[in-house]
Amino acid sequence: MMEDDPGLLRASLLVPPLAELRDVLQAGLAENFEQVDVSVVDCPDLQLAPFCLAAPGLCGDERIADVGGVPYLMPEPRKDKLYDLGDVSRLVGLPGALVLGAGAASHAVLGMNGELMANVLTSPQGGKEAVNNRSFSARWDRNAAKSRSVAGEGVPDEARPKNEEEEHGCVLEPYNHTEFAFLGNLFISQGKRGKVLEIRAGVRTGASNFISCMRLALFRNYGEKPVGLGGVFVMEEGDAKLHVMPRFSPCPLHSDECVNSWLKFITVPPPLSCLSVLVSHDPALSLRLEHVHCFGPHGLGGHYHCDVTPRSVRYHGYFIPAREIYRIDRPS
Ligand SMILES: [Zn+2]
Repeated sequence: MMEDDPGLLRASLLVPPLAELRDVLQAGLAENFEQVDVSVVDCPDLQLAPFCLAAPGLCGDERIADVGGVPYLMPEPRKDKLYDLGDVSRLVGLPGALVLGAGAASHAVLGMNGELMANVLTSPQGGKEAVNNRSFSARWDRNAAKSRSVAGEGVPDEARPKNEEEEHGCVLEPYNHTEFAFLGNLFISQGKRGKVLEIRAGVRTGASNFISCMRLALFRNYGEKPVGLGGVFVMEEGDAKLHVMPRFSPCPLHSDECVNSWLKFITVPPPLSCLSVLVSHDPALSLRLEHVHCFGPHGLGGHYHCDVTPRSVRYHGYFIPAREIYRIDRPS
């Protein structure tokens, strides 16, 4: 990825006042959750558990970057498509930034395919060494999992995935690298504390997941004026359905059925810290409109689909609107 890359596009996002967003999200979430409380607050120190970000806050020159895309992952992986979180923060004009979100871990680093929970403070000098790296990767390795299980360590019983067949296949590990592969949906800011939206939602009554519900509420309200949000939420109660990408498929993934039988789905208990990016409308940039990856202290994590326990689920998060979106290396 070069700075003169013709694949670098930029668009402005609509930035409504936080008080207005509060009202829009309060009303939208209330259609999907029984208990909703959205407020404008001073950002707490999000470095603390359970949020565990690489910088104290979400604020300052907020941007979103959509890097690469699914066409580089399938039907056959373009293994040459490697990117760097430090490069991304520099390309969006913010060297020395908090970069958080969802992507694919570098197969060159992991030795196999896997999920990336990106969560770094990049170098202000523009180098590839992160100042603070609290990222995780999740990979699928039944053997490593088996030996962990035999040793009787790690995941307590109540924190184990509920699908016995896939128990322990997920291996969540700190990812002390900035390289990633194929695609990334990233929120980038100065990582400062300031005013943010605090969102609590519990008891799901509708079909949308937490992030889709917010995205759809923004789209209904703002239409083709795109609003982007980045942030972090914790699923405090309930169980979530996640997937983890296993090793590359030996055959091309040409259909949704192929993809779904290749991916490993697990049900994971709370707490789950979820790094989130969403955009309400695609201004013809081939965007992915939402992407959430998560990790928990129980050693499980991956790509968030939804909760599977609507009656008991409880979410608590902090979000802020982004001012600009950058499209990097868009697949043709
Ligand atoms: Zn994902």
